[in-house]
Amino acid sequence: MKFYFPDSQDQVDPTFDFITEERSIYRVRQRDDHYAHEALRSPPFDGLLVSKAIVDGLPGATGKYTVAQRQRFYRTGVRSFFRLDGADGPRIDTLGDCGAFTYVRDEVPPYTVDEVIDFYDGAGFDLGISVDHVVFGYDLAADHDPIHPQRPEWQRRQELTLELAAEFRARARARKVRFEPLGVAHGWSPASYASAVQALQRIGYTRIALGGMVPLKTREILACLQAVTAVRRSQAQLHLLGISRYENVDVFAAAGVTSFDSTSAFRQSFKDDTDNFYALDATYTALRVPQVDGNPKLKARIRAGQVPQAEALRLEGHCLQALRGYDRGVVKIDTVLNALTDYDRLCDGARKDRTEPYRKTLEDRPWRSCQCGLCETAGIEIALFRGSERNKRRGFHNLHVFRQRLHREMKGAA
Ligand SMILES: [Zn+2]
Repeated sequence: MKFYFPDSQDQVDPTFDFITEERSIYRVRQRDDHYAHEALRSPPFDGLLVSKAIVDGLPGATGKYTVAQRQRFYRTGVRSFFRLDGADGPRIDTLGDCGAFTYVRDEVPPYTVDEVIDFYDGAGFDLGISVDHVVFGYDLAADHDPIHPQRPEWQRRQELTLELAAEFRARARARKVRFEPLGVAHGWSPASYASAVQALQRIGYTRIALGGMVPLKTREILACLQAVTAVRRSQAQLHLLGISRYENVDVFAAAGVTSFDSTSAFRQSFKDDTDNFYALDATYTALRVPQVDGNPKLKARIRAGQVPQAEALRLEGHCLQALRGYDRGVVKIDTVLNALTDYDRLCDGARKDRTEPYRKTLEDRPWRSCQCGLCETAGIEIALFRGSERNKRRGFHNLHVFRQRLHREMKGAA
């Protein structure tokens, strides 16, 4: 089971100083900043998923490339751009897709088949997913109800995706591309996913990605896989797009899933309300110490006169001192918790009492027992919900732990 990480240009600056919060004046972002596979002791994924929509900067794409980055990507190719061959361990695969969620509201995909083939082949990808259009919805009733309101649009998108898949495979063969093409199946129910998979197999695909499943519940995904299993040829391999439920890895594997991709371990570090810091057997809440100078929400409140700036700076500094003192063993846990609560009350009106989850994070000190390659040098700083350098390091750490959880699950299943 291979895990792919969808890139959105997330990097950390190894010269960043946690105490002064300054960077080296000699730092050149594209040369010196580290991707997850460079920052951690070992790459946390088997492959990188890169979307054409993100590289091209389609409106709505997150983690867009600058003009200079885009030019360098097209000039040097995907392996060199991400310095993949410099990473330790097994070769990191590269998988390209179109980023269909970016243009989900459009009538048709914004790319032609040949443009997408140019992107995959030109950049030297190992695998490329056919041009697709997401079916945005899930309702079994649409299988049988001829007047179901969404059915015509869902069918149109599914058929369009299949036509594009047929054209994609034919053009890829005619052009003798170096990447392996994957067809992509979209549907609105187990039966419709199964029929898309059947159609892709008839076209000749032996590798098939299942798309549009991100909003589905686990039992719905499992129902789709069960339906697909009934029609899947034994040599066909499945990829799950945007699915991170490692708990079901044995069921996935039994259904022919050999790879999946997800950003959630990374993004939870700074997007989730409580589950920010992974450990093998628990997930912790990161300790919120927003930057008075760097947090747009807090700055707006200061400008509006709702928060006195001097007081904010004093409480912020007090939190940082207390946290670092605690990690050195010279400050008591309750002093830290009081400092965090005081600052939170000023910033946020203490709308949420985080004392107990914070106490658990502080007591267990998950950064102490981690050997991801970042925790050892960052110490307690990696547990602070504060600025992108800490938040992204914690996101990378989460990827490392996610991989360990996945491996453990696979071993258990085996
Ligand atoms: Zn770590």
